[in-house]
Formats: sequence, structure tokens, C-alpha cells
Amino acid sequence: MKGQSSAETRSAILDLIRSSGSVSRSELAVLSGLTEATISKIVKTLLDQELVIEAGFADSTGGKRPVLLTLNTKARYAIGVSLDARSINYVVSDMSGHAVHHLETEGFGHTTPPLVIKRMAGDIAKLVKRSKLAPGEVVGIGVAAAGRLDASGGVLRRSRVASDWEDFAIEAALHDATGMRVALDNDGNCAALGEFWSQRLPADHDFAVVYMATGIGCGLVIDGGLYRGASGNVGEIGHMTVDLNGPECFCGRRGCLETLAAPAAVVARARANEKLAAALGLEENTAEDDVRADFALIARAAAEGDAGSVALLTESAEYLATAVVSMANLLDLDTVYLGGPGFADAGELYAGTLRRALENGAFMRAVHPVEVRMSSVGAETSALGAASLMLHSHLTPFRAGRG
Ligand SMILES: [Zn+2]
Repeated sequence: MKGQSSAETRSAILDLIRSSGSVSRSELAVLSGLTEATISKIVKTLLDQELVIEAGFADSTGGKRPVLLTLNTKARYAIGVSLDARSINYVVSDMSGHAVHHLETEGFGHTTPPLVIKRMAGDIAKLVKRSKLAPGEVVGIGVAAAGRLDASGGVLRRSRVASDWEDFAIEAALHDATGMRVALDNDGNCAALGEFWSQRLPADHDFAVVYMATGIGCGLVIDGGLYRGASGNVGEIGHMTVDLNGPECFCGRRGCLETLAAPAAVVARARANEKLAAALGLEENTAEDDVRADFALIARAAAEGDAGSVALLTESAEYLATAVVSMANLLDLDTVYLGGPGFADAGELYAGTLRRALENGAFMRAVHPVEVRMSSVGAETSALGAASLMLHSHLTPFRAGRG
């Protein structure tokens, strides 16, 4: 930690306390390579700011039992919002990355963005009031949305599911309506940060969260922070080519993972199979809403062992595995987590296929395994992750990448 400013060092020490759960000052000195005197000074500041509390004692190693430090999870709160056409989910998260309050409202549908922002500001005010939080306790609002981000953040430049929102400055509009700090990110990045915070993952744990909703994306946490690339549009695993002669994709290329493995592709194959479509009661039209509902039907049938549905999802999982092995090889990942509504019902089927592909095909398999786990954050992955986005930028800004 040499060569860092004192604010950067404080941020790094806070992050070590977060990922350790509980830790003594002398352990922090060992972990950070700083002297115990420097650690004591930093810890005093963190105690004064009430970001950290003393909580019990470690076992004695001879002399006095060392005091344990832990994150004061009730010191600050963040609001996370998952912005979606079908539903808007809100959570209030404490500093441990766990939701203490929730609210689900109808989605933005075809309502114009300014009206939706007005409704969101009202819902956020209600949520803060219901949570009995003082304004100073809320560090801000994180917003997760699907789509391509503007280079400066804060604006969606391209969104397949929400064309009305293209070029609309979400961050600025929600800040004006609420007076709070706002940070926008895509749902894959939010899911990755949610995992990092709620599971207290250490900064040296490099991982990806593959996020499947309508499309397939992923968030990467490398070296304790979100890896953002040049413009924040990192992790477009959905547009990795997995079949040179595959179908055309809206991005302009052929055989992208999304065109072969995402819910719309699986549903189209199921609808083309008359017997299966009739057995599952699939809709005939192809509206976006129906794709997600029909995919959930197929996934539930597969989880219950329906052979036709299992075959369709296995095909999707094998395409996904092709892309994930390449990603793990490129980035030397420890773990791949699966998150988002697309994995809600048949996530274990996908996880099993990915595990086998990584065990047999990952380049570094003789050195270390690449684990596959279901995201622990559950259905609120993206809203909780959005709240983590704000916690991360507020508490450990030098790891956050953008703040
Ligand atoms: Zn594509």
C-alpha cells in the first residue's frame, strides 16, 4: 500500500475490514504491510466516523486479548433500484450488502422516462420514510438497467428492451428529482458488485457474474473492483461468437452467444416444436413479456425433468459454456457465478454443464479449478447490486473505478 494517498489507504483498510468480517489491528497490519501505529491511526478515524465498530475479542496468543474490528453495518445505507419494463424493484441495503427493506412496483412499460423518474422519486421518498432513516444515513441511489452505457456513465446509449430510455440522462434526472447522489450501471456490473459485498469476497478473488435476463451479460470483479474497460461497457459475453455461421445478431455480427443461448432463442426453438409447445402451453406470439414468461415455463419443466425441455436448456447451456471457458481462459478467473432471472428455475442445469466444460477445458485446470456457483443474492440480484454500487463508490472509492 506504499505510494497511496492517506484517503486511498483508509479506503483499502476499510475494504480489508469488510472482507475479513472481523479482524484485529495486528492482523490488519500483517494483511496490509503497514505498521501497527499507522493502522491504529487509520482505525481511530474509521471509529470516529462510525464506519467501523469494536466487537469482542480474538483469542489470546499470549498477552492481552486483541480487540476485533468489524464494519458497522448500520452506519450507512444505500438505495438500489432495478429498472425494468416489467417491474421496478427497490431495496434499502445496509453496509453488509443485505436488504433491510424492499418495494416492488409496476415496471416502466411504455411510460415516458420523465414520468417514470417522477414516480421513482416518490417511491424512494416513501421507502426512506418507511425505513425511518435520516437523510444523512443514505449515501445515494444505485440504478441497474440493461443496455449499453454512455462513456461518462449515467446515460443508456442503446437498450433493446427500453428504446424510450436511449439517450435519456437517468443519473441527472433522478438526482434532480431526489437531491441524492445517483450512479447508473448495467445489470451485469451491479450483480457482480452485489456478490462482492453481500458475500464479503476478498479483493484478491477475481470472478465473473454471468447475468441472464432477456439477454446475457456479465460483470467482472478484478483486483477488488469492477473492471470497466474503456467506457464501462465491459463483459458483453452475449456478443462473443460461438458459431461462425450462426444467425445474424442485432449487433451486426453472426452467431453471437445471445442469438443461440438467450431465452428468446430457447423459446423460439420450443415454439417450433409443436408437441413440446402444446405440452408446455407456450404462447404463439413473440412479445418480449411472453418470451420471459415462456422461458420460465421451459426452465421449470426442465427442473422437473421434462426431457424435451432439458434438451433445449442443455443446448443453451453448452453454448454458454463455450463462451465462459474462453472468458475464464482470457481472465484467469477463480469463480463464475450465475445470477439473474434467467437462472432462477434451472440454474443448476446450467451450472452443471459449465462445471463439466471448465473441468475438462479450462486452460489453467491443472493449476487451479474454476468454480461455478449460483449467485447468493437471489431474485434481487440487480437491485441489491445497484445499492452495492453506491456503497462501493462511497466507502471504497479508489476501488470503485468511477465515483
Ligand atoms: Zn451480437
